[in-house]
Amino acid sequence: MRVDPRETGDLTETQRLVRRSIRDICDGYDDEYWREHAATGEYPEEFVDELADAGWFGILIPEEYGGAGMSTRETAVMMEEIAACGGGFAAAQAVHGGIYNSVPLVEYADESLKEELLPAVAAGDTSIQAFGLTEPNAGSESTAIETRARREGDEYVVSGEKIWISRVDQSDYIVLVARTTPRSAVKRRTEGISMFLVDLEDAYAQDALEISEIDKTASEFVHSFELFFEDLRIPEEHLIGDEGEGFYQVLDGLNEERLVIAAECLGLGELALRTATEYAGEREVFGGPIGANQAVQHPLAEAYARLLAARSVTFEGADASANDAPRERLGSYANAAKYLAADAAFEAADAAVQTHGGFGVAREYDVERYFREARLARLVPITQELALNFIGEKSLGLPRSY
Ligand SMILES: Cc1cc2nc3c(=O)[nH]c(=O)nc-3n(C[C@H](O)[C@H](O)[C@H](O)COP(=O)(O)OP(=O)(O)OC[C@H]3O[C@@H](n4cnc5c(N)ncnc54)[C@H](O)[C@@H]3O)c2cc1C
Repeated sequence: MRVDPRETGDLTETQRLVRRSIRDICDGYDDEYWREHAATGEYPEEFVDELADAGWFGILIPEEYGGAGMSTRETAVMMEEIAACGGGFAAAQAVHGGIYNSVPLVEYADESLKEELLPAVAAGDTSIQAFGLTEPNAGSESTAIETRARREGDEYVVSGEKIWISRVDQSDYIVLVARTTPRSAVKRRTEGISMFLVDLEDAYAQDALEISEIDKTASEFVHSFELFFEDLRIPEEHLIGDEGEGFYQVLDGLNEERLVIAAECLGLGELALRTATEYAGEREVFGGPIGANQAVQHPLAEAYARLLAARSVTFEGADASANDAPRERLGSYANAAKYLAADAAFEAADAAVQTHGGFGVAREYDVERYFREARLARLVPITQELALNFIGEKSLGLPRSY
């Protein structure tokens, strides 16, 4: 690719430094590494450890707690690079939670909990890779969660079920969202929800947590689980923020995280497009490179244009967040960026499979893996429909249907 989408747009000096440092690490892990991990489902431990040891899990943690104190702009660059390096969306997802789950602690936890945990996370010694919100009957409709946390003396007692919770096997702690007041007893469905920090080792020791891995395709080396809590006792000090305010705390910072997810989608799309372009320039059929045929060239050119457009919205949104744009404006950027970037990645990956002909489904050529990941990116962390719902309601001012 002559002009990589990552080379477009103006980066600050810090963003350039982030990009160089992450590229240096990623260069140590070739396509074979990612292919093998996708085939075996083995977590890319060496890669994640190298990032952790270099302090990258502390990118959003303030300097006073040992972190780098950077912002959405730098994190977007970091995650776009990780996805574009060869590991795709899955490689970004392997580390995403470890970066974002410390944010509620930074914003809402008691000082003692911050001092206990944040320096260890920033140093790569402790991981908070898991975030537990989704339940079998509460996915898009997250306020429908039923997992209960009842207060008993100076503890909370948690029972319930969570599903699709990623990286529980790579985590020391999980940030858990549960109802402290049942939905039937609150005026607004967004009330009565609270956020807790759960020490997983303690939960297993209490015999109060069982987990079961979900058999899935896409992002094979990032594992997702079903969790069953029964009378798990959590000390009151592990309540994050205010009781009953957890849903609003989840919403806070969501736009910034969504912009970074968009950057991960972009990295995947850029990777797929780069792979396809190289193949189109090399593969000869009917005496010439297939890339000379416009039926092959145009879908790739179209994918390039879509990636460039989605990238522009994503980084404009990241700049807006650095400039403290109002939440609703940021929400428009974040949801548009996630929607456009996931679709751009999907179109790029689809074109990459088609460009490879029959080899498009051979694992050895990687593009079928990129395609499955791009499909997943249209579903998580929110579906494309829910991103459009936000835009319809909040950006266009149309009535809400649900
Ligand atoms: C690989 C993977 C990893 C995940 N990791 C985590 C994790 O670590 N932690 C966590 O908490 N969750 C996680 N999730 C859960 C994820 O956030 C949910 O799957 C997602 O929010 C969608 O919820 P759902 O699957 O219940 O779909 P549903 O809510 O059942 O939706 C089904 C379909 O209906 C559509 N739909 C529903 N309501 C509307 C509406 N009002 N308007 C238009 N369309 C609508 C949806 O867009 C979707 O297409 C993960 C999921 C996957 C697949």
